[in-house]
Amino acid sequence: VRYDVTLSVVHTETVEGVLMCFTDVTHLQQADQMRRDFVANVSHELRTPLTAILGFIETLQGPARDDPQAHDRFLNIMASEASRMNRLVGDLLSLSRVEEDARMRPTTPLDIDALIRSAIRNLSTVAEENGGQILYAAPEMPNLITADSDQMMQVFTNLIENALKYGGQGTEVKVSCSETRRDAVLAQPAFLISVTDNGPGIDPIHIPRLTERFYRIDSHRSREMGGTGLGLAIVKHILNRHRGRLKVESTLDGGSTFTVILPKS
Ligand code: ADP
Repeated sequence: VRYDVTLSVVHTETVEGVLMCFTDVTHLQQADQMRRDFVANVSHELRTPLTAILGFIETLQGPARDDPQAHDRFLNIMASEASRMNRLVGDLLSLSRVEEDARMRPTTPLDIDALIRSAIRNLSTVAEENGGQILYAAPEMPNLITADSDQMMQVFTNLIENALKYGGQGTEVKVSCSETRRDAVLAQPAFLISVTDNGPGIDPIHIPRLTERFYRIDSHRSREMGGTGLGLAIVKHILNRHRGRLKVESTLDGGSTFTVILPKS
């Protein structure tokens, strides 16, 4: 805990003394530290691909100038590094947009079942290319929530993409939607949407930190898979705005289940 202390001398007709004023600045300091860490992380994440691109440009201008095979190979790497920077900037913009919207509650009714089906349709080709599939189980009825549809689409896209990415080759991702008459935290009826993979699972010590910006269990693996380290932070912020939350259940070697809990309209 950090305090700012100010001292002033009090000198009136009736009172004489010294006034000490303690202000708790712990939160301000923590917020400042988080902002500094964030800027340092963003700079590092952008600089790594940029350094690679600059290195390859130098090689193409110098030693590899007359080597057409090297041209193709280096240009491919540069394109993939540039896409990485593009994804990172896209995720940073999403995060800042969600933070900006945070105070405005969404007002549009949305059929969550239709939205999940559409997210699955968009990703089924990616799943099939990896020899895997996405299965969906839900009761056949309109499931209305009040939500921003683009943001909700991003939540389920991020979770299903992660399940496919970390689930590995041939993974089977199961998505389910059910409802509860009373969620204990929300104290009202809610929908529970789960995304389960049969991947490597997550050591429980990492679970509380997964939604922190740039927190990755294995940075090398995440980057190799095209991850920015911001996906779950975006999910968390979007769910906060919708009065929802994310629950993560996982065991090492036992796969993972990410459950989104959202209030019913
Ligand atoms: P990234 O872009 O690195 O995937 P996320 O914020 O989406 O970032 O996820 C944070 C970290 O959580 C990932 O780097 C990965 O280590 C872990 N993670 C997320 N989803 C899964 C999953 N389904 N199985 C195993 N690990 C996961």
